[in-house]
Amino acid sequence: MISKNILVLPGDFVGPEVMSEALKVMDWFSSRGLIHFEIEKGLVGGSSYDKFGTPLTEEVINLANKSDAVLFGSIGGPKWHDVNYDLRPEKGLLNLRQSMGLFANLRPAIVFDALVDASSLKPDLVHGLDIMIVRELIGGIYFGEPRGIKKIKDNKRVGFNTQSYSTEEIVRIARVAYDLAAKRGNKVCSVDKANVMESGVLWREEVSKLRDEYYSNIELEHMFVDNCSMQLVKSPKQFDVILTDNLFGDILSDLAAMLTGSLGMLPSASLGSKSQDGKIPSLYEPVHGSAPDIAGKNIANPIAQILSLAMMLKYSLNHDKEADLIDDAVQLVLSENIRTIDIFEGVGNPVGTSEMGDAIISKLEIIAAN
Ligand code: NAD
Repeated sequence: MISKNILVLPGDFVGPEVMSEALKVMDWFSSRGLIHFEIEKGLVGGSSYDKFGTPLTEEVINLANKSDAVLFGSIGGPKWHDVNYDLRPEKGLLNLRQSMGLFANLRPAIVFDALVDASSLKPDLVHGLDIMIVRELIGGIYFGEPRGIKKIKDNKRVGFNTQSYSTEEIVRIARVAYDLAAKRGNKVCSVDKANVMESGVLWREEVSKLRDEYYSNIELEHMFVDNCSMQLVKSPKQFDVILTDNLFGDILSDLAAMLTGSLGMLPSASLGSKSQDGKIPSLYEPVHGSAPDIAGKNIANPIAQILSLAMMLKYSLNHDKEADLIDDAVQLVLSENIRTIDIFEGVGNPVGTSEMGDAIISKLEIIAAN
């Protein structure tokens, strides 16, 4: 069996705790002979800063670029708040995404049947919800030039950033959205602010042109971002794939995350362009941060990390069946009311991080045996 080279970067605070549970699941697949993983581990974020004086070393960048996929935990925390901006843990992740060319961020917002009451919306609005948000990740206003804060007359200052998108940047992210939609519900809603921004006008034109030329079987709708945020709260099940830029995607994906109830349940994937050898650079991570408030207590929910592993199996390693196994095991655990404290509903006792990992493994055993 060909082994898959995975770079594991646990990160800070709860990162290593939830990563341990994902590693248990990887071990389970290896011990059953289903997938063989070659695992390299590295430091990133605050833990890398503490040891090497930088949140991301060249060595980690090289390992990431050589790997079949990166499994990332979470970084940051108050311990590093006084560190120079460019050496903050968060910068380690931003730089890693940039050096791997990860331009597409995929964030599913799925409501598990057993957790339908955890949403802030009425159950009938979110029951069966399954949205995929495709966010452009390395362009737009977060990176556009010119940017800065400068002095103007009378000792006043002005802060400014630039939103710009080229045809190439729009087309490559739109392709990801259409390809995903083709495997799901065949619907893409492209979100922009074309009524007031020229970059949005170009975005809309290029997204439409690509669909007309290559994806005529996909239903395309355009929506302004203000309307999209209203629609996500009013009637979220109308969406299949939402395609949007870096800034709007940042906000809308957090909004959609809250429809599902808990941050501890949400995985994500970031993908780059296919290289000549056919490899797509990729990084998988939970949506949540390093949760310093609950770190070291064995109470963090490891499901987002384990579902990130499932996304990795599906989107990078061609192991769809094994990814589905993980999804089914998580469903089963939840339906039996085995819950960490963040999703606990008051019957019995919540389980800890490692007990949740063990419960998922025991369900994998049961499903695999049938
Ligand atoms: P956070 O996501 O870490 O925590 C927000 C809330 O959700 C907290 O109450 C936390 O206890 C809870 N939570 C998070 N993950 C959980 C889990 N697995 N199980 C149960 N509860 C969970 O966000 P924050 O507190 O705003 O940020 C903390 C640090 O994480 C900051 O330094 C921030 O910059 C960083 N951060 C990192 C990433 C990343 O690594 N990609 C993402 C977001 C924030």
